[in-house]
Amino acid sequence: MHWRTKIGCIALLTFLYCEFLADFIQLSFCNWPKLSHKIIKNRNEEELRAVIVADTHLLGPIRGHWLDRLYREWHMHRSFQAAMRLFQPDVVFVLGDLFDEGDFVNNSDFEHYVQRFHRLFSTPAGVPIISAVGNHDIGFHYKMGGYFIKRFSKHFNSSGVEMYTIKGNHFVMINSMAMLNDGCSFCNTALRDLNKISAQLTCLKNRETCTDIHALKVHKTYSRPILMQHFPTYRKSDAVCREHDAPNIELFRENWEVLSKESTDLIGRLLLPRVAFAGHSHHYCFSINRFGVEEYTVASFSWRNKVEPSFLMASFSASTYSVLKCNMLPQQHVYNIYMATATLLLGAIIWKLCKKILVKRIKKGIT
Ligand SMILES: [Zn+2]
Repeated sequence: MHWRTKIGCIALLTFLYCEFLADFIQLSFCNWPKLSHKIIKNRNEEELRAVIVADTHLLGPIRGHWLDRLYREWHMHRSFQAAMRLFQPDVVFVLGDLFDEGDFVNNSDFEHYVQRFHRLFSTPAGVPIISAVGNHDIGFHYKMGGYFIKRFSKHFNSSGVEMYTIKGNHFVMINSMAMLNDGCSFCNTALRDLNKISAQLTCLKNRETCTDIHALKVHKTYSRPILMQHFPTYRKSDAVCREHDAPNIELFRENWEVLSKESTDLIGRLLLPRVAFAGHSHHYCFSINRFGVEEYTVASFSWRNKVEPSFLMASFSASTYSVLKCNMLPQQHVYNIYMATATLLLGAIIWKLCKKILVKRIKKGIT
C-alpha cells in the first residue's frame, strides 16, 4: 500500500472512531443498577428502568458559534442514541434547560428548537420522554410569563406540577421557578397543584376511604413519590454532597441556584418523596437533602457545560430503587486522539519527504 493511502486510512479510521464509535464504546461500560429481585417478587412489583439526563442546553440562534453548536450537539446525539440502543430504557426524564435560549427566542425559532430537540433526542417507539421545565426554557421567576409557559407546555406537556404514574411509581414533576410562594399567579397554580397531588397521594394511601375516582383509576396504588425538578432542593453548597464532581465549591442562593428553604420544606411535607432528582448546577452531586432523603443532582449532558458529562441510570419499583451514574465520553479524549494522530501523521509525512529528498541527492551525487 502506498504511504499516502496508509496515511489517508489512518486519518479516516481516527475520524470514524472519534465521531461514530467512541461514544458507544464509552457507554458500553455502564450497566443498569440492580434491584433486589426477591423484594420485587415477594411484593409483586414491576421494575422500571429510567435514563435521567439534564441541562442539554441546545444553543439557539443568538449565543454561541454555529460550529460549536453543530459539533457538541452531534456528540450529545451520538451519546443519547447509544444509550437508547445499549440500555433500552422504559422511560427517559430530562430535568430542564432543554434549551439555552428558550426564554428569549421568538416563536418561529422556538418551533425550530423543538424540532431539533426531538431529532437529537428521539426515543424508540413506546419509550416516553418526560421533561421538567428549566429557567433557560421559560425564564427565572422574575421573567417567567404566560407566553413562555404556554409554548413550552404545548410541546412538552409539562410546565407546572404534574404526577406521572409508571409501573406503580409516582413521578412528581415540578416547575422550580414557580416555587416562590410569593402570591404570583404561577406560584398559586403550582401550590394548588402540589396540594392536589398531596391529597391524591393521601387518598391512595387510605384506599378504603378514598373517594377520588380519578386518583384510583389513574394512579392506582400508593407508593412514596419520586421528585423530579430542575432546581435542587435547598443546600448551602456542594460541600454537603457525599459524592460530587464540581471543580469549585460555590455558595448557592435560594431561588437562583437551589430552591428556598421554605419551598423545600413545603415539598417535603406535602409529598414525602422517597428520592429526589434535579439538574441546573451542571455538576453531579449525591446528597441527603433537607428533608432527609437521597437526592441526585444530574450533571449537564453537554460538553459545553461539563468537560466530563454524565447521566443517571435508575431502576425503580414501588418500594425500592437503585441509581448509577454513567460517565459519557470526555471531550478531552476526542481532542487527545485527534492531536496524537495529527502529530503522528505529520511526523510520518515529514519523514517520508525528507527521505525522498535525501535519496534524490544521493542519486545525484553518485551520477
Ligand atoms: Zn438552569
